Amino acid sequence: MDAHDRALTEQSSLFDGVDFSNVEYMLERSSLRMLEPGEKLLQPEVANSHLYLILEGELRVHLIGQETLEHASLTAGECTGEISLVDGQNPSALVVAAKTTRVLAVPHDTVWSLVDQSHDVARNLLAIIAGRMRNDNSALIKSHHKRAQYEHQATVDALTGVHNRRWMNDAFSRVLNRCALDHVHSAVMVIDIDRFKLVNDTYGHLVGDVALKSLANIMQAHLRPHDLLVRYGGEEFAILLPDTGIEEARSIAERLRTTVAANEIHSGDLVFKITISIGIAAVNNESKLEENFGAADRALYRAKESGRNRVEVAV
Ligand code: GH3
Ligand code: MG
Ligand code: MG
Repeated sequence: MDAHDRALTEQSSLFDGVDFSNVEYMLERSSLRMLEPGEKLLQPEVANSHLYLILEGELRVHLIGQETLEHASLTAGECTGEISLVDGQNPSALVVAAKTTRVLAVPHDTVWSLVDQSHDVARNLLAIIAGRMRNDNSALIKSHHKRAQYEHQATVDALTGVHNRRWMNDAFSRVLNRCALDHVHSAVMVIDIDRFKLVNDTYGHLVGDVALKSLANIMQAHLRPHDLLVRYGGEEFAILLPDTGIEEARSIAERLRTTVAANEIHSGDLVFKITISIGIAAVNNESKLEENFGAADRALYRAKESGRNRVEVAV
C-alpha cells in the first residue's frame, strides 16, 4: 500500500484519536478494492466478512424495505459493514458505489483484534454504530410521516379539504357500528348544488370551484364534531349525522340550506350566491346504508322537482 492510501486509511473515523503506528499491521491483512459506479458492495442476501473503510469516492446505502426513501451517502473517512461485523448476520442494507470508489476491506477477525488492542478503536466503532442507528431511526420516522401524508392525501379531497368517497365507506361503517351498539338512530343527508352548471357556464369553472370550497367551509363550520362530511361526487356532498333523529336532521338541514342561500360568495370582483337542495333518510343499520343512501337520493330528487332550495325527507 502506498503512502497516499496509508494516509487516507489513517483518516478513517475508526482511527480517530488512535496512534496509527500501533494498528498499522492491519494494513497488511487488508486489501484494497476498486468499485465501479453502480457496483454493489454489500447486499442483504450475501454474507459479509469485512468492514469496508472508504478511502475515496461515494457509496449509497439503501435500507431494506425503504426503497422509495432517500438513501444515505457515505464518503471518504466513513465505513460500512459494521452491523454484520457486530451481529454476524447478513448486511442490513444494500450498499452501492455512487461513483468510482476505493475501499479498504478489513477482515472481521482483524477488526476484532484492533478492538482488543485499542480502547479508542473500540469506542470509535461504538460511535459509528450508534450514529448508524440514529440515522436509520430518523429515516424510518421520515418514511412513516410520508406514508401518513400519502394516506391523508388519498382520503381527502384536494379542492375542498373534506374527506372523499374512498374514506366514506370505511368511516361511515365504523360510526354506524358504534351507533348500533348504543341503539341510537342516525341520519344521512345528500346535498346537491342547484343549477350548478349555470354557475360554471356563467362565471367559468374556476369560479365554480370557489363556490364548491365556500359550500364545504360553511357545512364544515355548521356541523357538530362527530358529524361526517364527505364530497360524494362532483358537486354533491353527503353528511352522516350519528345519534340524530329524522326531525333533528331536518332542522339541521334547514339551517344549512338557509345559511348557504344567504351567504355571499366572492371571487375577484364577482359576488354571487348559490342554493342547495337536500335529501334526508334515516339510517338504522350499517348493512342498509346503501339503501338509505338511495332513499336520501330519491328525497333529493323530489326537492329538485319541487323547485330546488328545499329539504325533503325520505318517506
Ligand atoms: P341541479 O342539480 O339543480 O339539477 O342542476 P345542476 O346544474 O347542478 O346539475 P348537474 O348535476 O347536471 O350538474 C352538475 C355540474 O357540476 C356539472 C359539472 O360541470 C359541475 N361540477 C362537478 N364537479 C365540479 C368541480 O369540481 N368544479 C366545478 N367548477 N364544477 C363541477
Ligand atoms: Mg349533481
Ligand atoms: Mg346540482
